[in-house]
Amino acid sequence: MASLTMLHICCAPDATVPLAELAQSAASGRRLAGYFYGSNIHPREEYLRRAEAVALLARRMGVTVAMRPYSPDEWLARAAPLADEHEGGKRCELCFTVQLEAAAVEGVRCGADALCSSLSTSPHKDVKMLSRVGEQVSREHGIAWDGRVWRKNGGFVRSVALSRDLGLYRQNYCGCVYSIPKSR
Ligand code: SF4
Repeated sequence: MASLTMLHICCAPDATVPLAELAQSAASGRRLAGYFYGSNIHPREEYLRRAEAVALLARRMGVTVAMRPYSPDEWLARAAPLADEHEGGKRCELCFTVQLEAAAVEGVRCGADALCSSLSTSPHKDVKMLSRVGEQVSREHGIAWDGRVWRKNGGFVRSVALSRDLGLYRQNYCGCVYSIPKSR
């Protein structure tokens, strides 16, 4: 059976470029699937908007994306002790870990031999942190970490253009309750 890459999808706009690039490898025999975690997102209405955008993107790109049932309490139970952390700090490292672990479990269930993440499309994400977490989670699940940084070579600008062309919802905060701007 052809090898399979599991793409962890943090949000639809950030997934546009990795899905487009990974689909090219799919032409050479490597299969592709996606996984949307989403339980870090607050409130529920925002989760639903983002999940709908991921589903739209999956249909437009012809990729199967597994959507985890929304379980915000589970995510909060792990993240709440780190509530006072600044964005980009220890809470985000935990959040990356929780999301990538869930994507790796689904990847292994589907027969994936590689894991990667759309998080590196965003200019706001620490790619060294992501790489550290991705390598560890992948090692623990016996699969390879594909650490491509999708924002490189104009990737972020392309993701903005692709999102606009596809009519995808674009959020204005990272996702969790702690990242909601005070002025909202
Ligand atoms: S700011 Fe973003 S990455 Fe950090 S904990 Fe919140 S949702 Fe996760």
